[in-house]
Amino acid sequence: MTGSLTDRRVVRAILSEAGVRPSKQLGQNFLVDPGVLNDIDEVVVRAAPDTIVEIGPGLGAVTDVLIRRARKVAAIEVDRRLARLLSDRLGDHEGLEILNEDVLQIDLADYVDQGPVYVVGSLPYRITAPILKWLIDQRQALSGALLITQTEVAEKVFASPGKDGTALGILVRSYADVELVRRVPRGCFAPVPEVDSTLWSLALLSRPRFASDAEAFFAVVRALYGTRRKMIRRALRTLLPAESAGTALDEAGIDGTARGEELDFEQLDRLAAAVGPRLNVS
Ligand code: SAM
Repeated sequence: MTGSLTDRRVVRAILSEAGVRPSKQLGQNFLVDPGVLNDIDEVVVRAAPDTIVEIGPGLGAVTDVLIRRARKVAAIEVDRRLARLLSDRLGDHEGLEILNEDVLQIDLADYVDQGPVYVVGSLPYRITAPILKWLIDQRQALSGALLITQTEVAEKVFASPGKDGTALGILVRSYADVELVRRVPRGCFAPVPEVDSTLWSLALLSRPRFASDAEAFFAVVRALYGTRRKMIRRALRTLLPAESAGTALDEAGIDGTARGEELDFEQLDRLAAAVGPRLNVS
């Protein structure tokens, strides 16, 4: 069965026999490429996790790889029909727990056993951003993650901070190192999605890339990236009166006529340290 999940005709047959029409809403595009599964295997072997939480196992092509490499795997699948298919096939596997739940409701701390957990998932693409936030919010329980996302999302994370970056990308990069593993063209999935994907990993840092107050740091990031084409001194007006913003910029030694996307982590941090104490006094 393992090998056959890389045959798109078999995937189609399993789904139609079970009466499952792949849902776009749930991002149900199943991996059928042995090369990608092999690369996932290699990264997981290097990470050597004790416990893995898998997001959206679907029919279990990735799960088959993971259960060979970790003592415990918790596979969280929101679609009851797929969770049942997976249970029928792999339910007896010792060390595998299949949960029919929304992954965003899962508390990773519940899975921490012999150290923080490792998360693997080919992400349902409509909820990629909430899942990335969910991961970072639970970073205390997390050692790292191996993800397939739309290439566009991966590129934005890799480009943050910077011209093609985003506030979400900065959130991820603030707490983690990221590494590109490989491209995953749309033809690696059944059914074939409308966009290409990328396999990438993240490893949690022991300390964030900023020292200022987190609330102030991300308020500054959101202000600058929400109005990216604006000069920083204007973008800061969503947070502070002009005069106060000017003083904060002087204090941080940041040129107020530059654009937010030109600032690196160190400059964003300095600016947040100067803006933070002024936020509640404005
Ligand atoms: N891992 C499988 C593979 O690679 O072949 C399937 C990946 S498919 C891109 C995404 C999977 O996530 C689907 O099985 C879908 O039902 C599931 N899913 C969607 N939303 C979810 C959620 N909120 N929580 C858990 N699983 C979800």
